[in-house]
Amino acid sequence: MSDMKQENINSTKYDIPPEIEGQVTITTLDKIYNWGRRSSLWPIMFGLACCAIEMICTAASRYDFSRFGMEVMRPSPRQADMMIVSGTVTKKMVPQIIRLYNQMPEPKYVVAMGACASGGGPFKERYNVVSGIDKYIPVDVYIPGCPPTPQALLHGLISLQRKIDTQSIKEVRWYKKEPIEAIPIPILGPDIIDPREIELIQGYTQKKLEKLEQSESPSVGDVS
Ligand code: SF4
Repeated sequence: MSDMKQENINSTKYDIPPEIEGQVTITTLDKIYNWGRRSSLWPIMFGLACCAIEMICTAASRYDFSRFGMEVMRPSPRQADMMIVSGTVTKKMVPQIIRLYNQMPEPKYVVAMGACASGGGPFKERYNVVSGIDKYIPVDVYIPGCPPTPQALLHGLISLQRKIDTQSIKEVRWYKKEPIEAIPIPILGPDIIDPREIELIQGYTQKKLEKLEQSESPSVGDVS
C-alpha cells in the first residue's frame, strides 16, 4: 500500500512502530468502508442528450475516470451504484429513469450533470421537459454548465467522493431497520402524473365536473 493511501486510511493517527509500518494500518470501520465505496463507484451506462457526449469523453483516454475506480460502466442497473443524469430530462424519459433508479441496489448515488438535469436548463418549463431530475429522485451532486466540461464532471465526481467520506455506517439509510420504499413510477399521459397524487387529481376533477353540471342544469324559472 502506498504512503498516500496509508495516510488516507489511517485516520486515527496512532503511531505505528517503524518495523511494522508497511504491514499494519489502524483505522476506523467508517473510514475503510467509505474508502472502499468511494474508490469503486460504478456508473450506470446511459445518457440523455448533449451532456452525455461530455460524459463519454470523460471516460475516454484523455480524462479517463478509471483513475478514480469508475471505469466499469454497467449496462445493468443491478450492477451499478452511481447514476450520472447527463442531459435534458424529458417527461417521456422520467418513468424510465425512475425505474432504473429503483432497480439499482443500495448504496446508490445520483449526479445531476449540467443545467438540464439540474433545473431544466435552456428548456425549462417547456411542455415536454421537467425542471430538474431532483423533483423525482434524490440528487447528491449538481454540476453546473451547458454542457459541463470533462474537468467539471471530474470535479463533481471528486465532490461525490468527498461526500461519501463523511458518511457513517451508523446513519446511512441502507442499514436502517425500516425498508426503503421504491419511488412510485410516474404515469405519462397528456402530462406526467405522480401516482401518489391521483386521489387529489380525481377529487379536483370531480369538483369541477359537479360545478359544470350545476351551471348547465335548467333553472326553476325556465319554461322550455
Ligand atoms: S445542459 Fe446544455 S449541453 Fe447539457 S443536455 Fe442540456 S442543452 Fe445539452
